[in-house]
Amino acid sequence: MKLIKQLKKTIWPDSIVLIIFVMIAITVIIVKQIVIHDESKSDAYNDLSLISSEVVIHFQKVKLDSWKDYVAIIHVCDPTANRLVQQLDNGINFNNLDWSGLNSEEFKQVKYYHYLLDQYLFFTPGEYQFPLQEPSHYTDTYGADREGGQRKHEGTDIFNQKGTLIFSVCNGTLERIGWNRLGGERVGVRGQDGNYYYYAHLDTVNEALVVGNSISKGELIGTMGNTGDAITTPDHLHFGIELPNGKWINPYSWLKVWEYNSR
Ligand SMILES: [Zn+2]
Repeated sequence: MKLIKQLKKTIWPDSIVLIIFVMIAITVIIVKQIVIHDESKSDAYNDLSLISSEVVIHFQKVKLDSWKDYVAIIHVCDPTANRLVQQLDNGINFNNLDWSGLNSEEFKQVKYYHYLLDQYLFFTPGEYQFPLQEPSHYTDTYGADREGGQRKHEGTDIFNQKGTLIFSVCNGTLERIGWNRLGGERVGVRGQDGNYYYYAHLDTVNEALVVGNSISKGELIGTMGNTGDAITTPDHLHFGIELPNGKWINPYSWLKVWEYNSR
């Protein structure tokens, strides 16, 4: 008995038990942090996707230096944003505006959206690009019924002719290439921003692409087609963005802004 106790002590000295316990605790904390980070990042993208592309494009056109100030205020305070907008028009810095008249929740929201526009560069000119070079037709069909209402449309369909070249919207790593039932010939890119970019119904995939390799913004993805469940529809690119938390987001307003900035 004494020998067994002795043996146990030699195999599992207290210090090792303590080290293992600490390592497990650290792992749990890190995993939790990653999950929380992914969630807050995903929430941020979700909130950003609700900003009107028309408002962004208008202020990038007329106030390129301070478009984020205007967009944050108008997105939260419209239609009572006039007094703040006037101050910006008079050259007052965003941080020195007279916020009186705004309730504390509105004030918090304006600051939050201003922070998002600073931190997440989806709308920032030059950071992303439109996936096609030609003017193309697309509308906001995110959430529309598919397969008789069995599932929702989780992206934007961009229409053009078969064979139209399709380019990567961002820098990233090639994660999936090839066939799937709905998407047909598809390419999936893990962006440097952590999101998954999905290009579906391709007629052909750029043969130089290899899973695991990096891809740059503007590099050729393939050509437009109608493969997969698009076989009965006109040729189009189904473009989707999946957030780190697995939610497919509406890419429409980003596409609009990228298209404007890619001209
Ligand atoms: Zn689609």
